[in-house]
Amino acid sequence: MKKTASKITEVVIDIICDGCGASVVPDFQKAHRESLDNFNEFGVLCASYGYGSSQDGHTHKFDLCEKCFEKLTNTVTQLRLDNGLTD
Ligand SMILES: [Zn+2]
Repeated sequence: MKKTASKITEVVIDIICDGCGASVVPDFQKAHRESLDNFNEFGVLCASYGYGSSQDGHTHKFDLCEKCFEKLTNTVTQLRLDNGLTD
């Protein structure tokens, strides 16, 4: 005999860009997936600082849409140029 029960579970239903507030999930993905728990087609910027750093214990995590991530990569590219790095 199987015993059953109803359980409430939380699932990811959308992922919002921390840069601009737009969804990072295309509408057709939201319409055809039961959850977005495993959706990973977006940019993530994260950092975790440890003992001895000026930001000791601080962590940062930002989910970013394609456009905002491109702006970030352009900024990194400019930083590299400013610092004389060419590769
Ligand atoms: Zn964005």
